[in-house]
Amino acid sequence: MNLIIDTVHSYLPAKRKTTPSGWVSFNAVCCHHNGTSADTRQRGGIMINEGVSYHCFNCGFKASWQPGRKLSIKFKKLLQWLAVADDLITKCSLEALRIEENSDYQSQRLETPVFIDKALPLGSRPIVEYLDNPPEELMPVLEYLHSRNLYLEDYNFHWTDEEGFTNRLIIPFYYQGRIVGYTARKVTAGKPKYISEQQPGYVFNLDRQTADRQYVIVVEGPIDAIGVDGVSVMSAEISDQQHRLISQLGREVIVLPDRDQAGARLVEQALEFGWSVSFPEWAEGIKDANDAQQVYGRLSTLYNIVNSRESNGLKIQLRAKTWFPKTQD
Ligand SMILES: [Zn+2]
Repeated sequence: MNLIIDTVHSYLPAKRKTTPSGWVSFNAVCCHHNGTSADTRQRGGIMINEGVSYHCFNCGFKASWQPGRKLSIKFKKLLQWLAVADDLITKCSLEALRIEENSDYQSQRLETPVFIDKALPLGSRPIVEYLDNPPEELMPVLEYLHSRNLYLEDYNFHWTDEEGFTNRLIIPFYYQGRIVGYTARKVTAGKPKYISEQQPGYVFNLDRQTADRQYVIVVEGPIDAIGVDGVSVMSAEISDQQHRLISQLGREVIVLPDRDQAGARLVEQALEFGWSVSFPEWAEGIKDANDAQQVYGRLSTLYNIVNSRESNGLKIQLRAKTWFPKTQD
């Protein structure tokens, strides 16, 4: 506990409820300051753990503070709107500075997950090495790549003629140049579709996010990530470690959810983290970046993703309501 958390706790409106996921909701205190009519449906939400995140689903205002950061202007506004006195807000600011200077927190913030080296399936070699004299068994894999609009220059795809892996495209997982896992996707009918070796907290394709980039596009699957040169969280849920690794890139994060119910869950997390979400206008039946590429081509798909991004929390919520297909009853 610290002064900031204590203050927020004691100034929350009396009429409030706590959801099972830990959000405390109450009538938002921000809306009329932002030119929107006052909230009467408890659409303000606050999450208090080691830091504080506030999000209003009425006017879209959001503000947060995490240990190690200064109090932002928005966060100070939030405190004002919660009726915290100015001198107490000043004390909170000083507290934030004190915590920022605390070296323990600095080192904790820099801590990143450790990924150990992993071996690829036996006999795996880059597919390019086979091209002079490609074996018959490699053909289904090459056909698969072609059908997904993927090229051998896009990624260091691997293959092996080892039993059990012949009909699989091997996608090595790199981290700082080392191989730390892989997924082997079946390219013909049959199960399992994926055989994977994945370490907790791993984010696929981080190595490609060079410093000159303005955005990072976050998608669910590795194949989609390769096509848009984004990263993949390889699930519909972003873990804390993954969140940290992506945030550390220090640029605008654009989440591109799959157009299905799992994708909707990813949007909720994007809102929680203050990330942008992209809702491209794609034809019916196109549910992810790879589908889109096959129809619109790569450049146009990328352009669409970036241009269809929304950063305002309220607008993200509204957009999500119509963008995802309705569930079948
Ligand atoms: Zn509001």
